[in-house]
Amino acid sequence: MTEPEDPNRDRLKQHFAQRVINQARQVLEVWQRIQRSEWTDVGLSELREAAHLLQRYAERFDQAEHYHLAKEIDACLQRVHDNRGRLNSQLISQLNQLMQRLSRTGLRHGDRFEQTALPPLRKPVYLALQHEERAEQLVQRLAFFGMQAQVLDTANAFRHAMLERHPAAIVMEVDFCGPNGGLILAQQVQESLEQKIPLLFFSAEDTDTRTRLAAVRAGGREFFTGALDASNLFERIEVLSNVAQYEPYKVLIIDDSRAQATHTERVLNSAGIVTSTLTEPIEAMGELARFQPDLIILDMYMPECSGPELAQVIRHNDRYVSVPIIYLSAEDDLDKQLDAMSEGADDFLTKPIKPRHLIATVRNRAARARNLKARMVRDSLTGLYNHTHTLQLLEDARFRAERDGQPLSFAMIDIDYFKKVNDTYGHPMGDRVIKSLALFLKQRLRKTDYIGRYGGEEFAVIMPDTNAAAASQVLDEIRRRFAEIQYSAQPQDLSCTFSCGIAQIETGLDSKLLSQQADQALYVAKHGGRNCVALYQP
Ligand code: GH3
Ligand code: MG
Ligand code: MG
Repeated sequence: MTEPEDPNRDRLKQHFAQRVINQARQVLEVWQRIQRSEWTDVGLSELREAAHLLQRYAERFDQAEHYHLAKEIDACLQRVHDNRGRLNSQLISQLNQLMQRLSRTGLRHGDRFEQTALPPLRKPVYLALQHEERAEQLVQRLAFFGMQAQVLDTANAFRHAMLERHPAAIVMEVDFCGPNGGLILAQQVQESLEQKIPLLFFSAEDTDTRTRLAAVRAGGREFFTGALDASNLFERIEVLSNVAQYEPYKVLIIDDSRAQATHTERVLNSAGIVTSTLTEPIEAMGELARFQPDLIILDMYMPECSGPELAQVIRHNDRYVSVPIIYLSAEDDLDKQLDAMSEGADDFLTKPIKPRHLIATVRNRAARARNLKARMVRDSLTGLYNHTHTLQLLEDARFRAERDGQPLSFAMIDIDYFKKVNDTYGHPMGDRVIKSLALFLKQRLRKTDYIGRYGGEEFAVIMPDTNAAAASQVLDEIRRRFAEIQYSAQPQDLSCTFSCGIAQIETGLDSKLLSQQADQALYVAKHGGRNCVALYQP
């Protein structure tokens, strides 16, 4: 038996451990700043210093995971230094992976492990609502989505909290502490801030345009009325606070001149953009499939085939119709440029080009292309992959699993008695439940899993490197937790359950058969009484 810990000592330990988290956040913030601008020596030394400090704190306060990550980051930065301060694609990818891991690390207090499901980067949300009970309930519901919220019950408590720490977002009731008190308070606080914090207003009663206008002027980005729904709120805060993990852009450079390509690579790498170079245009299709670039930079004149010819070949493949193609060439004859552009390219940059100009063009185009692609392959209600794309991903995953000799599981999920939800509470409420399950799955599954909306209230999950038993364990936990969510509704709150069927890939099994097996297992789960997970049994 171990001695019960002195609560004071435990609190003190917790307090110090928090420093580690704060320093980790510092490292992540510097890294994000670099990715938005350009890589400089100043950035390098700032990041290094932050990582050193993290290493020191983590060692002192006994946070092994942070300590090892900080060490690895430092080693990576040392390699950048050895590379005369230059980033290259490999280093960008490594650093990015380490940063992503860092953003997911939890905090260890003595023997307790505090699982932070979300990045420590994620700050809390401040809730300034009139009814404390309602606020506390909201805190619990937000916690289901892994979002940490803090209730502030007076104007002073709110001001004080703002001085202590800036939140990820503020949810403010219009009449907090008196009529229009929330409007005034929020405005005062926002005015004193250099960088505005996402502000969401709430009013239990429907309000007039004058109030809404005042909310806009106070910097309100959203206005909720009626009941405050946790999943709705969560989704809006996610979008407003822009916490989506940032993957570096990937650019494929096709140029027969190695020197020219290297120059372009250097410029792009310095902005944290990952590159791959081809000097043999004939290999383009293979490289596209492997590298999956966000954008292609193409030379106009190459001995084997011309840029415009290659652009046409690329465009003939459905999968790459939306990948931007940019010419980078010394050709300054406008007619020739226009001719080249008519063959499926998006832009023409003339050499020599200022690095800033090249970086900005690539970033803008790549961002737009990602956005567009996301809309093409995603379902608009939930943001998950749509049916067609889910099947394409399953096929890709099956191919990789077989090549690498790794297991792969496929799960189908269907909400139970969903018709009743629509019938009793209306279609919009049904939509809300669908959206909230989508968010819940995104929150709880690994980044390497693919989640699709298979149909109305049906979802599909592709789980690489996972056997059926492990998949079942994970999904059963999600099933249990999902059933605990309460949605505010009239005449009474509601909760939902789902059933799930799982199949694991066998050699020689094609993806169509795999999805049929998962479907059969789902059928078994439904007939076994619903609210359960079933494995496919031959
Ligand atoms: P169970 O799966 O447990 O057998 O019962 P169920 O009531 O869920 O059965 P079923 O799959 O037949 O019903 C699904 C219902 O989901 C039918 C359809 O009206 C509804 N639905 C499908 N897509 C949407 C949607 O996008 N939004 C809403 N609100 N409802 C949808
Ligand atoms: Mg169904
Ligand atoms: Mg159903």
